[in-house]
Amino acid sequence: MTSAPEQRMDFIREIIAEDLRRGTWGGRVHTRFPPEPNGYLHIGHAKSICLNFGIATEFGGKCNLRLDDTNPMKEEEEYVASIKEDVRWLGFDWEDREYYASDYFDQLYGYALALIRKGKAYVDSLTAEEIRQHRGTLTEPGRNSPYRDRTVEENLDLFRRMGEGEFEEGTHTLRAKIDMASGNLNLRDPVLYRIMKSFHHRTGDRWKVYPMYDFAHGQSDSIEGITHSLCTLEFEDHRPLYDWFLEELGIHHPRQIEFARLNLTYTALSKRRLLRLVNEGHVSGWDDPRMPTLSGMRRRGYTPESIRRFCDLIGLAKKNSTAEIELLEHCLREDLNRTTRRTMAVLDPLRVVIENYPEGKVEWFEADNHPDDPSLGTRKIPFSREIFIERDDFMEAPPKKFFRLSPGREVRLKHTYYITCTSVERDTDGRISTLRCMYDPESRGGSTPDGRKIKGTLHWVSALHAAQAQVRLYDYLFKDKEPDFGDNQESFARALNSNSLKVLTGCMVEQALREAGPGSRFQFLRHGYFCVDRRDSSQEGLVFNRTITLRDSWARVQAQEPPPGGDTQRGKVSSKT
Ligand code: ATP
Ligand code: MG
Repeated sequence: MTSAPEQRMDFIREIIAEDLRRGTWGGRVHTRFPPEPNGYLHIGHAKSICLNFGIATEFGGKCNLRLDDTNPMKEEEEYVASIKEDVRWLGFDWEDREYYASDYFDQLYGYALALIRKGKAYVDSLTAEEIRQHRGTLTEPGRNSPYRDRTVEENLDLFRRMGEGEFEEGTHTLRAKIDMASGNLNLRDPVLYRIMKSFHHRTGDRWKVYPMYDFAHGQSDSIEGITHSLCTLEFEDHRPLYDWFLEELGIHHPRQIEFARLNLTYTALSKRRLLRLVNEGHVSGWDDPRMPTLSGMRRRGYTPESIRRFCDLIGLAKKNSTAEIELLEHCLREDLNRTTRRTMAVLDPLRVVIENYPEGKVEWFEADNHPDDPSLGTRKIPFSREIFIERDDFMEAPPKKFFRLSPGREVRLKHTYYITCTSVERDTDGRISTLRCMYDPESRGGSTPDGRKIKGTLHWVSALHAAQAQVRLYDYLFKDKEPDFGDNQESFARALNSNSLKVLTGCMVEQALREAGPGSRFQFLRHGYFCVDRRDSSQEGLVFNRTITLRDSWARVQAQEPPPGGDTQRGKVSSKT
């Protein structure tokens, strides 16, 4: 038995530590991460993954990956593959413990037979609509089905025939016989099996009846010998049902503990809503860099370390609340600041000709890749007579506090020389097309013998050498901090931020970036963190995603200070129950 003292204790870890002290499970800790393969994993799932795999590691236990694939209608192999890729990418390993609820279909069928034989389950012949009508409400008890008192023999016969495909879908179900008057609706004779003549991604057309999620989930945990079934809060009301199944069947009974699911400001975190975003074409796919899916975040440039750190910081609670997206971004910036190489990119290029620099001459300057980490090395950057600077780093009639380039003003070009603007050229539309400048040969390396002070330092690239690129800038998918998604297509569309994607073309980046592999991350000086798009970028057509800007707003959000402009929306998010 091991435990990691540096790990912050939370109520679940306390329970597990106590179980270990008492030897409750014979010293075992065994968890699982149980996604349904009906969508891509999102940042909410990351919380569950970090929790389940994290606990197994910290307490010397094991964690299974189990795909709860009980619904053949909504499941696809594509989802299974993406789930496995995402869990691995986050940094976790299920070793050889990759399981599927569908692996237990025979056993679950056997459990159903056992309940029928005990008189604890019956075949119902009401339609779905009739079952709903009999169910009652929170204030009204339900009514027994007229088929509830079928004999064991009759039930066994009908269930067998359901399994053999003799009946049409919707004509019969198998239900537990519990209590139609229970205050807990989940205990009002829930359906255990329904007839579905669908092809299953693993069992093919072998089965004509499929277990309901509720009948499969708890028993699958039991079959796997799970000690602690960690679930989100909405399963609290299902726990009495899961307990009932396990007790009636007399099989291994894991301890279920519920925790609050992650909600995130400006973000939709349910597969149903994410599927809408994809199906209604609001995004380019599950891995659109604006999506809160792990594949979208990976493509955007998020690091697994930053996501794990975020999951660690938000901790665990028993009450639902909403985490601030600024905290997630803060974790990302901290990691990227430490690990990314610096490079120069001009997103909105303005041509600069340095008149006293010889034509055809190229000088190579050594630049460090990281200001604080020499282990990231240096690179050579070329300087020549024509360069690009950022269009908004120049102003013809600058206000007082503008320290960048303007006529007659001197600035430092990062890593190279000082330049002074001498004149401005315009195209026929009157737009500035070129700046004429002079450089000071004595200022090589960023200072001069006379030690004169220069306030502005600009990033730039050599026009002769720079590579062209497309750069994609992202904003939140939803306008409001706590979006009101509504139920229909119109309200959903209204909640969307129509400016969540901005595509810049004709950007100029350091030529070495042509060689950067898909997914590699950089800091573009003064612009933020960027990564090479994994899907669309190639040597012929470079595409960069802006992962995140440089400006960290977490401290401000934390201090609950209204930002400049008095946007009151941004106060602390209330707890929801
Ligand atoms: P969604 O609500 O997004 O559709 P789900 O709960 O149906 O997701 P599952 O595939 O069943 O998705 O989830 C697998 C595991 O991840 C479950 O144990 C579930 O409780 C957990 N999980 C899902 N969403 C969150 C979340 N937002 N925060 C924490 N855990 C989550
Ligand atoms: Mg679910």
